[in-house]
Amino acid sequence: MIGRIIKQISNDYTVLGNDNNLYVCKARGKFRNIKVTPIVGDLVNFDIDKKYIMKILPRENMLIRPTVANIDQLIIISSVKEPDFDSNLLDKLLVIAEYNRLKPIICLSKVDLLNEKELENINYYADYYKKIGYEVIINHEVDDIKNRLKNKITVFTGQSGAGKSTLLNHLDNNLDIKTGEISYALGRGKHTTRHTELLNVNDGWVADTPGFSSLDFIDMTKEEIRDNFVEFQELRDECKYKDCMHIKENDCAIKDNVENGNILKERYDNYIKFINSKEKEH
Ligand code: ZN
Repeated sequence: MIGRIIKQISNDYTVLGNDNNLYVCKARGKFRNIKVTPIVGDLVNFDIDKKYIMKILPRENMLIRPTVANIDQLIIISSVKEPDFDSNLLDKLLVIAEYNRLKPIICLSKVDLLNEKELENINYYADYYKKIGYEVIINHEVDDIKNRLKNKITVFTGQSGAGKSTLLNHLDNNLDIKTGEISYALGRGKHTTRHTELLNVNDGWVADTPGFSSLDFIDMTKEEIRDNFVEFQELRDECKYKDCMHIKENDCAIKDNVENGNILKERYDNYIKFINSKEKEH
């Protein structure tokens, strides 16, 4: 039977079968031999009698922290006030999402705390992110967000205090205790656990992600960071040098477009910061 792993505790995998029943299965030893481990989100072929996972179907994508496969979308909750809008963190998460082939959705929170001038400023950012192809939503649009969850695996992320738990509670009142656990785990910092679970919310699946704050560029090269700034891609052929890093080179289309206002200056500055932080690692 085919099913999806929705929970893992050590070597016990809870699989939701095509028949809508839950089966607690073990992973067969052969996975250890080929150095592949089934993870939450995987679609698997399993033996319904022996309760063994036989085969992992090809993955669309996966994250290591949290360990989840086949993520349909990443909702990035971005506070615009208290804490202030953090374009550096947002750009970082967008680059990581692109790199991992996750579809990001930017969800602005605390918009109601802004005065007119601040709102204008945030709309300026929002319009830019929309222009380069990202969806931007407001956390008050609960029904819209609910609809987006249906039949999908969603990971929520964002800086602490951005209102992630509050939003999850609005999406499903039954989540009360579980979101408490999420924030508790996040507050503890390096909280390591082998327990990963998808929560059923509005006919969709939400990853319980205590470790998500630890996302970073560790696995990425400078070139990969560059190549995951989406708006750089359509312009890069216009750079004089094929491998232009868009920093010190002459005749750089990216730098020209920052100067003429076509590329958001803050975003380019964040790019430089990411590259510099990568250089410090060596
Ligand atoms: Zn360039």
